[in-house]
Amino acid sequence: MDGRPVARAIYQELKEEVAQLYDKGIIPRLSVFKVGNDPASEYYVQNIQKKAKKIGVVVDILNFVENTPQDMIIAEIQKANKDPKVHGIMLQMPLPKQLNQNDVVMQIDPRKDIDGLHPINMGKLVLGQDCFVASTPAAVMELIHYYKIPTKGNRVVIIGRSNIVGLPLFHLLVQKNAGADATVTVCHSRSTNLQKIALEADILIVAIGKPKFVDHTYVSSNSKVIDVGINEVYDADAETNIFVGDVNYIDVFPIVKAITPVPGGVGTITTASLLKNVVRASKL
Ligand code: NAD
Repeated sequence: MDGRPVARAIYQELKEEVAQLYDKGIIPRLSVFKVGNDPASEYYVQNIQKKAKKIGVVVDILNFVENTPQDMIIAEIQKANKDPKVHGIMLQMPLPKQLNQNDVVMQIDPRKDIDGLHPINMGKLVLGQDCFVASTPAAVMELIHYYKIPTKGNRVVIIGRSNIVGLPLFHLLVQKNAGADATVTVCHSRSTNLQKIALEADILIVAIGKPKFVDHTYVSSNSKVIDVGINEVYDADAETNIFVGDVNYIDVFPIVKAITPVPGGVGTITTASLLKNVVRASKL
């Protein structure tokens, strides 16, 4: 299950929507708050800016030095909340230690919280209400929808319970809704019998941050595997760093019904999902 055609379809749709918004005088705009100089974050936000430009969404990257006090970040977020030209606010993670993530996120206007981190959006998600959903779980749902993977009444096993991936995915897939209605099990680092549970899955979603952790002992010929992991590891053959998933692709591929590659899978769709939220926010 290649992520690229999924992303292309989203960008195509967004391009048309943005053109219609321009006709109404609306230019969708995202403010990205980036604190510190983490190189991976730098690459990620620049990539968002590049992709956004292609569909007509403006992305302003607000750079703050590593030791910026929390009050200053909050004051800038409040400014962006009030600015009618800014439709989306994104806080690039990880934040430096002096910043309390929960306190800072609380300051984002939930209608501009395109990363779905604010408790109001999280709460609405739990209740099955319309809300902003974090881009990675949203990307997984786009993939499931695009490849018409049946979910209704089917067994989904998610390995990983983080607030940005596993937990939102649980709520998205369990809710009474077309495209969901699944029987969902969430496993984590304290789960026992992980393989046994994973083997029961029609859809196995892995988001743990452990390179090639899931091997052939976790899958059957019925498994559709969605690998959310992105891990940079040294490849001795290539004599360079490469990106691999949380699933051992080569080991699992001959057995399963379908699998997403890394790179080129879920990660490819994530930025498209994020920009979809920005376009949506610009219509509120
Ligand atoms: P995290 O560290 O916040 O959470 C990891 C989760 O995995 C935890 O819930 C933990 O309980 C579980 N876990 C860890 N070891 C385990 C084990 N041995 N057995 C069972 N469960 C175990 O990570 P995260 O932010 O959710 O990210 C997970 C992976 O997804 C990482 O590889 C990350 O790089 C990747 N990721 C990808 C995207 C994307 O756009 N594709 C976005 C975010 C994260």
